[in-house]
Amino acid sequence: TTIEDWACSAELTNSFLLDEDHALRAALKNAEDKGLPHEIAVPAEHGKLLQLLATSIRAKRILEIGTLGGYSAIWLARALPEDGELVTLELNERYAQVARENIAIAGLASKVKVVVGPARTTLAKMKPEHPFDFIFIDADKASNTDYFKHAKRLVRRGGTIIVDNMMLVGLVANPTYTDDNVEGVRALLKELKNDPDVDCTAVGTACYKGFDGFLYAVRK
Ligand code: SAM
Repeated sequence: TTIEDWACSAELTNSFLLDEDHALRAALKNAEDKGLPHEIAVPAEHGKLLQLLATSIRAKRILEIGTLGGYSAIWLARALPEDGELVTLELNERYAQVARENIAIAGLASKVKVVVGPARTTLAKMKPEHPFDFIFIDADKASNTDYFKHAKRLVRRGGTIIVDNMMLVGLVANPTYTDDNVEGVRALLKELKNDPDVDCTAVGTACYKGFDGFLYAVRK
């Protein structure tokens, strides 16, 4: 079976289970029209998984690191109650502007705050007084360890931290690859080994883009 067979099968299965509605499709189209690398957004089934995971713990405060055009932000913000908040961090001002447009079209502007700047700088200024219930890390993989340390500091006990792209189409397990992204994932894995603060697993994911994985961590 090839990845294409798998992708077909996943598409068929999910055609029964979830719907990428107008606002989500419009978000991708707007991102494409404005020249954003829209193909690096999560696929719909992963967006829906994030939404369901956040819903299942009744998340009221969500943090996302890596906004792009706001596609995953829309899925996540839909998990929030009326008085909930999603804070999403993005380096690129132009991407953030597109994300704000998309989030407004989805009717979620009142719940979502897009913060522009290097996430490391923004995170360093954030205080744990109002902890998050759910944190999704999906930015530059080279900084994963830093982001994860901040996430542990900013999430409530029992809260969830998800990190995308933990397997990078198998490159993480292939020692001949040593680029910054791959090394960033390896560094996080070394950090997590025997980390007493979190309970973790990494599950393989696959989509039309290839094989990858989500880290699922619960703050003890
Ligand atoms: N989560 C988005 C989605 O699924 O719709 C996709 C995010 S994309 C994979 C990664 C994003 O992280 C890009 O928009 C990129 O500009 C942003 N990024 C890269 N380095 C960053 C940094 N140092 N601080 C904040 N954002 C950064």
